[in-house]
Amino acid sequence: MEKVLSDIQIAQRTTLEPITSIAEKVGLTADDLELYGKYKAKISFDAIRRLSKNRDGKLVLVTAINPTPAGEGKSMTTIGLAQALNRMGHKTIVAMREPSLGPVFGIKGGAAGGGYSQVLPMEDINLHFTGDMHAITTANNLLAAAIDNHVHQGNSLRIDIRRVVWKRVMDMNDRALRNVVVAMGGTVCGFPREDHFMITVASEIMAVLCLAEDLMDLKRRMANIIVAYDLDGQPVRAGDLGVAGAMAVLMKDAIKPNLVQTTENTPALVHGGPFANIAHGCNSVVATKLAMKMGEITVTEAGFGADLGGEKFMDIKCRFAGIKPDAVVLVATIRALKMHGGVKKSDLQVEDVVALEKGFANLAKHIENMRKFDVPVLVSINRFLTDTPAEIEKLTDLCRAYGVDVSLGDCWAQGGAGGLDMGEKVLALMAAPKKPYKPLYEATESIAKKLETIVREIYGGDGVIFESRAKKQVEELERLGLDKMPVCVAKTQYSLSDNADLLGAPTGFTVTVKDVRVCTGAGFIVCETGNIMTMPGLPKVPAANRMDIDENGVITGLF
Ligand code: ADP
Repeated sequence: MEKVLSDIQIAQRTTLEPITSIAEKVGLTADDLELYGKYKAKISFDAIRRLSKNRDGKLVLVTAINPTPAGEGKSMTTIGLAQALNRMGHKTIVAMREPSLGPVFGIKGGAAGGGYSQVLPMEDINLHFTGDMHAITTANNLLAAAIDNHVHQGNSLRIDIRRVVWKRVMDMNDRALRNVVVAMGGTVCGFPREDHFMITVASEIMAVLCLAEDLMDLKRRMANIIVAYDLDGQPVRAGDLGVAGAMAVLMKDAIKPNLVQTTENTPALVHGGPFANIAHGCNSVVATKLAMKMGEITVTEAGFGADLGGEKFMDIKCRFAGIKPDAVVLVATIRALKMHGGVKKSDLQVEDVVALEKGFANLAKHIENMRKFDVPVLVSINRFLTDTPAEIEKLTDLCRAYGVDVSLGDCWAQGGAGGLDMGEKVLALMAAPKKPYKPLYEATESIAKKLETIVREIYGGDGVIFESRAKKQVEELERLGLDKMPVCVAKTQYSLSDNADLLGAPTGFTVTVKDVRVCTGAGFIVCETGNIMTMPGLPKVPAANRMDIDENGVITGLF
């Protein structure tokens, strides 16, 4: 049998085209680009404004079932499908999120697709890329520094230091920083208080970057962020501290979308990357809208399962951006469905048609959910070498019996050639007339009602329990008139419920809300459920332990 190459080996053997040639394919000239070396560029807002006169192309959303910790190949399928559509003669562009260093050095080891469907140069994209994460981290922490400095310098805004809600961030999994005490060391160091770190991708600055239309909108939104409450319980905003302008200075390049290419030289915009379990989970609105102006078809993705990224794509991103996908591709793997059917992680290699049939309930629920948004759905089975013919046949039959079209995708092993059937089926779905945008709930409903709707309709639960602190927070937001925004649920990605151990399609559960906070810059309300953490930890053996670089600069261990 031929040796299977790792993602990074495939990436290193691929011949890249200069980014200026990739740009030409989508109507951009060298003047439109700000080059970051030979293979990466940011696109100027002059170019974005010029292209905004073009007609919108079609939009395909790739989402998935509840995943295993390794991921189910959503990014890989997003890239593979775009490559397939390009092979079929349709000018197609990828719009996807930037990786965070947390998972790269933690469990996943990289997040730029996989096999012969990757965005390149994958080492750069997975590491510091064009510095967007650095800019977001710095803007976030400038605001944090401004809060403590304001208090230290006399606190004219009368900030209640027990009620500072703005947290510091870092783009690394580091559980030791979840709860810290800052300003220790006496009077010159300020007033000591309990503080917290989140991972950068959970920062509201990241959400704002992903939802803003341009730099001025980004600045306005950042000024509007609530950072603390004063001694009368009134919100204190970033604008009150006078640093919104400086934050915008730090973000001036980060707001511009990044252009790269795939393993088959398909243009790809990789820009913005909030996690879908603790934030809203989709790449920037600027990049998605630009891709739709540049190409006939844009393939984009939403993080984790369709209960998180998919729901938020529809209810948050589409609502704000005024867009709607023409088709949804739901990625499923046989190994994950077997896990949903009760198979242990260590036994996933063994054929088990019965467990697969049982685990199908998870996929069925996601199909039903996506249809609630009035979008046509295709299931894409991401084929693994360990899948058996009997399992593939079973899953195909189950999908057909459920009344959903299904395609067996092999974009990991074959690149775009492995996605031609998927491409044809997506085109067929998109040929039908598009139905109007249909969110799951109205933003003007109460927080409890909005959440209840998501829990009942999407998760399949019986209802919501607000812990006493969360109840008080909801009452406060109602008192301040800040409750009429979409809801962004922070929840485990492994289960449809808020308990990671409840696999399949559980019923009879309730979802417990621990914390409710408003993101006035982003324009949504975050409800933290279950044991979700906004600062992940590293696993026992992190991906970092496998990484290395040699004297020629060749990296190993990213995948
Ligand atoms: P997701 O976007 O769902 O998190 P990714 O596309 O990032 O998943 O893929 C996760 C990892 O799984 C990558 O390292 C990728 O190479 C690997 N992978 C994806 N599909 C396959 C496949 N069919 N066979 C083997 N490995 C795969």
